[in-house]
Amino acid sequence: MASWLNYNSDGGATPKKAAAVIMFVENAGSLLLVRRNQALAFMGGHHAFPGGSVSEYDTGVRVRGAADAEQAGTLTAAVRELFEETGILLVEGAVLSDEKKAETRVAVLNSPDIFEDMLAEAGLYIEAEKFIPVGRWITPTFAPMRFDTQYFLYCAGEPFPASPIGHEGEITETGWFNTCEALDLRANGVIQMSTPVVFVLRRLAVLPLDKAIERLQHTPGFSDIIHDYIEPAHGIHIVPVPSRTLPPASHTNCMLVGESELAIIDPGIDDAAAWTRFESHLDEILEMAGGKLCAILLTHDHPDHSASVHRLARRHDAPVYAHQCCQEKDIALEDGMGIALSGAPPWHIRCIHTPGHHPGHFAFYEEATDTLICGDMVSNPGTIMIDPETGGDMGAYLDSLDRLSALKPKLTVPAHGAPLMFDAGPDLFRKTIAHRRMREARIRDAIGRGASTLEEILDMAYDDTPKSLHPLALRQLQAHLIDMNIDM
Ligand SMILES: [Zn+2]
Repeated sequence: MASWLNYNSDGGATPKKAAAVIMFVENAGSLLLVRRNQALAFMGGHHAFPGGSVSEYDTGVRVRGAADAEQAGTLTAAVRELFEETGILLVEGAVLSDEKKAETRVAVLNSPDIFEDMLAEAGLYIEAEKFIPVGRWITPTFAPMRFDTQYFLYCAGEPFPASPIGHEGEITETGWFNTCEALDLRANGVIQMSTPVVFVLRRLAVLPLDKAIERLQHTPGFSDIIHDYIEPAHGIHIVPVPSRTLPPASHTNCMLVGESELAIIDPGIDDAAAWTRFESHLDEILEMAGGKLCAILLTHDHPDHSASVHRLARRHDAPVYAHQCCQEKDIALEDGMGIALSGAPPWHIRCIHTPGHHPGHFAFYEEATDTLICGDMVSNPGTIMIDPETGGDMGAYLDSLDRLSALKPKLTVPAHGAPLMFDAGPDLFRKTIAHRRMREARIRDAIGRGASTLEEILDMAYDDTPKSLHPLALRQLQAHLIDMNIDM
């Protein structure tokens, strides 16, 4: 399945300006979705709102009543993309015959830059007040292709007929969906939708229209722009929170899992402002799910995974599950233990003891969605620190990776960086094992070539690692030497 989740990126591509239209029929609770071609690199196969990139030819001259020039241009792009992808032309001033509209659509598909001229010639204009701005989203930093998308809500009296064409088969289907039915289809794995689409649908499904608009315009826990939040599968929420972790990571993925009963995994927020944001965001997720926080799970108790555990446990009166050796716990985790959460179907988290990075490290496998939450077993991108001074054990780490690589998750979420789809997770475990074995061979080779002190081995076996990282590499080296039964 093509998805940006398959990619690894630490650079953070510059987001491209984009715009989309949410056509909504309030009395039917239905809205218009287009299905993106499976072959597309960005969100291939996903159901989305009609929309696309804002181009320099979207000047906004045919918009009346826009707040400013930028909004006029963005709105023009949204209306143009809707027309190209579905044949629906949301303009005022005159009525085009169906033939003329079809002919114009083909012309605009071939050269989108004629759209505004076409509107001018036909005496058509876009009425800004009919399009309500309902939120701006930025694709997460780890995606290779990123968009900064403005969503506009257009309330229609009844569903408009729509037909897909799009650029070179970009759109393969169009359809009106009841919001609740679309969410069910997604929950049952029949269709896929990106986080912003799910987010909008949830609010339109649960709240009266005026409240939903208000909530989309000012989402608790966010300022004007929504970012750093994804729900890559039904009921699997990832909130990357700023944490004191090792570079290149700067955030820990705090996870919220479930439907009516939810579990939170690795709350590592230790900054007051970030906590305030997180609190409101968490409440909003729980409210939309109609759910309650029932369990707090720790993969391990390093501060970047557990800093806010006490606060959260008190606030929600929820028990903390962690390994026996972790301080902050109410219930000690054991290998193979299951944690059940109500839902339809019920959710079930299997706990897998995966020592190595930390002696009490656990991975969690959610069986209803086949999601593996692997904590600090891998980082995407980055290296996991195995430090013997803090209980790190290289041999145990490699065994744990080997054990996880036998699983077949649909989604693997590391504690730091981008989630991985399907085989990409187990593949990264196997690559990590291979990388560690390669390092072991280089250490053996350095010793064979005469290196006799830790510093000499480090310089030879880690000559591909920047000098600035050598203090960290020294600890990895010590972990390898212990595992290899070499006494220095
Ligand atoms: Zn850790």
